[in-house]
Amino acid sequence: MKLLLATQNLHKILELKAILKESFDKIDLYSLRDFKDYEAPIESEDTFEGNATLKALDAAKHFNMLALADDSGLIVPALKTSPGVFSARYAGENPTAKENMTKLLAEMKDLKGDKRNAYYSCTLCLASPEKVIKIVTGTCEGRILEEIRGAGGFGYDPLFLKHDYSHSFAEIQTEIKLKVSHRSRAFEKLRHTLEVEFQCTTS
Ligand code: IMP
Repeated sequence: MKLLLATQNLHKILELKAILKESFDKIDLYSLRDFKDYEAPIESEDTFEGNATLKALDAAKHFNMLALADDSGLIVPALKTSPGVFSARYAGENPTAKENMTKLLAEMKDLKGDKRNAYYSCTLCLASPEKVIKIVTGTCEGRILEEIRGAGGFGYDPLFLKHDYSHSFAEIQTEIKLKVSHRSRAFEKLRHTLEVEFQCTTS
């Protein structure tokens, strides 16, 4: 069975490959990095579900292959759900992760205690060329630190402290992040569909 990860984001590709490979040994995984000429659709929707669906269906139809898209972001309830669906573009067009984090720290400079609570959300959409097969969402709750800590992970990980953890997502090993992350929690809800509908082997 072939599965196309409908993303160019290297960090998402590495995390999704690690999550999938741990359980499924019969899936041939591809990503949009294998097909550089393809132009992904503009993320025009205002929900994670909408954008994940857009990306999965377009790639599945274009390549005539089963496709899995990830739309994700960081939500700070005290900032009225910002950065949310605009997490990648929070500080403007094509910002660096550092620019996004600097803006977030500035927006949150007067927020203390529970007001610093935040969560990651990841929506995964599995689609065939004909239709959406399943959409699932996973979250991971924590808080936003007052300063950048660590050099691992990606995006907002140096600012994200999961509840009950003493190290940011950029300070812990990837294997640990992958056990508790929004992405792996979303994937758990997709596992059954992959096992039953596509008769994949769970190792
Ligand atoms: P998307 O490509 O529109 O789904 O945007 C995803 C953005 O959300 C990323 O560019 C990051 O800024 C943020 N994000 C999503 N998942 C993570 C994560 O696991 N760690 C850190 N940032 C993340």
